[in-house]
This record gives sequence, C-alpha cells and structure tokens, in this order.
Amino acid sequence: MSLLTVGSVAFDAIETPFGKTDKIVGGAGTFIAIASSYFVKDQNIISVVGDDFPQQTLETLNNMGINTEGLQIKNGEKTFFWSGKYHNDMNSRDTLITELNVLENFDPIVPESYQDSTYLMLGNLSPSVQSTVIERLGNRPKLVAMDTMNFWMDIAIDDLKKTISMVDVLIINDEEARQLSGEYSLIKASGVIRNMGPKILIIKKGEHGALLFQEDEVFFAPALPLEEVFDPTGAGDTFAGGFMGYLASTEDLSFENLKRAVIYGSAMASFCVEKFGTEKLLEITQNDILARVGRFVSLSNFDMNVLVK
Ligand code: AMP
Repeated sequence: MSLLTVGSVAFDAIETPFGKTDKIVGGAGTFIAIASSYFVKDQNIISVVGDDFPQQTLETLNNMGINTEGLQIKNGEKTFFWSGKYHNDMNSRDTLITELNVLENFDPIVPESYQDSTYLMLGNLSPSVQSTVIERLGNRPKLVAMDTMNFWMDIAIDDLKKTISMVDVLIINDEEARQLSGEYSLIKASGVIRNMGPKILIIKKGEHGALLFQEDEVFFAPALPLEEVFDPTGAGDTFAGGFMGYLASTEDLSFENLKRAVIYGSAMASFCVEKFGTEKLLEITQNDILARVGRFVSLSNFDMNVLVK
C-alpha cells in the first residue's frame, strides 16, 4: 500500500485577527502530505517549487516518510505564493495575492517509483493537471480522491467535469457543492454530483463539520468545538490528508470505515487550525491524535432512552 499526493507546495502569508505572518511554508500538497504521514509510512508527493524553497523543509518532509522524488525544483523560478486575510468570524477570508510562478506551466512528472501507488489524493490544482496524473499512472490506484474549488468551476468547468468523472471520491465545501450542482439542498446536490462520477462525496461545512455520502447512506461528523481558532489555512487539505491517510493505512473501503476516516480527518483538521500554517501539525504525536478522536466519539455519543407509552 502507498499513498500518492498531488498538490501545491507553497509560500503563504496569512493575516488573522490574532496575528500576521511573513512568508511561511504552506500549500495544499504540504498540508495533505504532513497530515497523512501520521498514518502512512510509504508516501509520495508530486509538486513543483522554485529554487527559493528551503531545503530544510524538504528534509523535514523526507524525515516524515514523504518521498519527494516527484517534487520538481525549478532553477531560476519562484515558488507559488498565496496570501490571505481572514475576517473576524474566521469563517471567511479574502485572497490578497496569488502568484502562480512555477505552477503556471506545471507539467507533473510521475517517477517510475510512484507507478504502484495504490491510493491517490489529488489536492486542489488545475483539473487538467489532476487528470494528467491519473493518465500518467500505468495502473489505476485502488482509490482516487480529489479536492477542488469554485475558481476552477468559474474558469474550467469542462475540464473539471472530465476530472470529476475519473475519481472515486470528491471532497468539496458546501458552497462549491451548491455551485457545481445548481442545487441549494445539499442532499439534492449530493445526488447530482454523484451522477457526475464519484461514488463517494464529502461536503465540508467548516466549523459545522462534514457530510459523507455513499449510495443511500449519509453520515455527519461534527467539527470539534475549539476555544480558539488561530489560523484555518489548510484545514480542508489537512482533513483530506487525515481521511486518505487513514483509509490507505486500514485498506478498508466499507462505509463504516469511511465514517472513521472522516472522523480522523476532522481530528487532524482540528489540530491544524490551532497555530499558524503547518506548525501545530508538525508537533503532534500519535497519542494526541488518538486522544482527539476520543473527544469526537464522546462529542456525539449518547444513550437512546427509549420511551414506551
Ligand atoms: P485551504 O485553506 O484548505 O483552502 O488551503 C489553503 C492552501 O491552499 C494554502 O496553503 C495555499 O498555498 C494553497 N492554495 C491557495 N490557492 C491555491 C491555488 N489556486 N492552487 C493551489 N494551491 C492553492
């Protein structure tokens, strides 16, 4: 079993009501790979950075078991840069700067050693890059999941629908599900979207948790109520990393196990928001994760006191 992650490896500059950072390491691929490394020993990443990206971060990824052979370093070019500012409620943000840099002409190379990847997580990137990776893998992985965003619905809907038709799991937020399906009700939206291809759909609702749909089954996972949300950047990607990492490590695609994977993803996301960028994710232990999953269990566990008249 091995997990392949495709996604941006980036510099972010973030402003929240609690503080501001200069350029720190971020990127969807970074958050996914770090989160899933707590579950999977054999992990590969496909991405691209410029020669301004710190070698030390690449070593940190390697030390976490993430193989960076497919992470291209472009000499004389700059790493993707994103800057965002959160509003006081921390649920909404404005993108201040997007400098695509190396991502502008990104041609994903799939090294020979990645060809046997059994699980594939396509982080938010251009849908044509996402489908190129699927096409360049000789053997189709057992499970292909993808994330996307409304930006691609606005500018590349045909490419996006083609890529969506190729995957098993789609992970998007509620607004994106409504835009993609044209339905306000998330239940109706889930039917429309699953008719586009993916048999499994996850709709993230930020601090209101996540919904999982497969066939006639629906599961709802709450988000952990936290006293302080410091920086939500990367929470969605971290959720996806925890979800896919857990699935890949257990190799069980039953609905019961998908439910557990959603809880593990939610637990990882709850760590991510506690500090800026990847900082918190880099300092947790397996015991922290288990303890947090335990809090999720007690959060929604109750005895049904059956009243019989
Ligand atoms: P999230 O908070 O889950 O939406 O993810 C935030 C991360 O996505 C940041 O670390 C950014 O570097 C990265 N990101 C933002 N916009 C893009 C984009 N257009 N393409 C790829 N990655 C992006």
